[in-house]
Amino acid sequence: MNGKILDGKKLAEKLNSELSVKIKSAIEKTGVTPQLATILVGNDPASKIYVNIKHRTCESVGIKSIIVELDEDIAKEDLLTEIDKLNKDNNIHGILLQIPLPENLRGHTSIFLEKISPLKDVDGLNPITRGKLFDYVEDSAACTPKGIISLLENNNIDLKGKDVVIVNRSNLVGKPLIFMLLKRNATVTICHTSTRDIDYHLANADIIIVAVRKPKFIIKERIKKGAIIIDVGINRIEGKICGDVDFEDVFDKCSKITPVPGGIGPMTVAMLCDNTFTLYKKQLKLY
Ligand code: NAP
Repeated sequence: MNGKILDGKKLAEKLNSELSVKIKSAIEKTGVTPQLATILVGNDPASKIYVNIKHRTCESVGIKSIIVELDEDIAKEDLLTEIDKLNKDNNIHGILLQIPLPENLRGHTSIFLEKISPLKDVDGLNPITRGKLFDYVEDSAACTPKGIISLLENNNIDLKGKDVVIVNRSNLVGKPLIFMLLKRNATVTICHTSTRDIDYHLANADIIIVAVRKPKFIIKERIKKGAIIIDVGINRIEGKICGDVDFEDVFDKCSKITPVPGGIGPMTVAMLCDNTFTLYKKQLKLY
């Protein structure tokens, strides 16, 4: 059974441990500790949980992590000023704006993301970082897609020539994945709510990556025998977390599958730490 499960938790622990060795040696060499600033606006309980997980993981690998907590009623200009302060602070090497923002600010999200210096954009959502993906530059590309690719590659899954179907077209998941998969010579299909026949695409996919916010969206009747299933979804049902795949239902038919929790979530956080260290090295000219 274990051979089938793409264990993101275990791989993330291994990557974090390897990273901590590199960070320790960089600190010894430079005397400078990598530092991540996370901006948390408002009191959304789920965002607080995610920010705390990121904070704890960063600290565990040797990255100093500060959380800038801001009132949910903060004015647009004041939030921009806070971002700019962090842009100008030489002790801060990475900036993460936790999204989604509270309702009153959500419509301006792209303006805030654009304000984050590309040199410090650990979450890969600034337009310059996103644009670099066109040239297959992934230095500090979006953490969740990077985590998916890392999980596949570390499990020796060759993407060349594979038919990969992504059900999601968001900036956070589907769009960055297009370029990361093309870079590795996969054939990529994106499905979304206007796709005419999702079942046709799913039935032919060697690899399915799903992030639709709908539990049990992927069931065994929808997949090809031997397909690899990557479940990015995080849904909360009666206090329990589940993904978008009916894990038990598809288990026998697929060849590999990520669990939720313990799949893409920890890989995303591992990539955040990795991106922070990458940007730190760039700022300290350690290449
Ligand atoms: P989002 O912006 O709401 O995107 C959802 C996507 O799913 C959209 O592209 C939407 O299509 C598509 N979709 C929804 N229902 C569909 C249906 N019935 N058929 C086909 N496509 C459908 O969400 P997101 O920010 O990308 O996040 C998606 C999920 O991933 C969430 O559960 C989130 O919690 C999870 N997530 C997990 C991690 C992690 O670390 N594990 C990180 C990021 C996100 P349209 O574009 O047509 O609306």
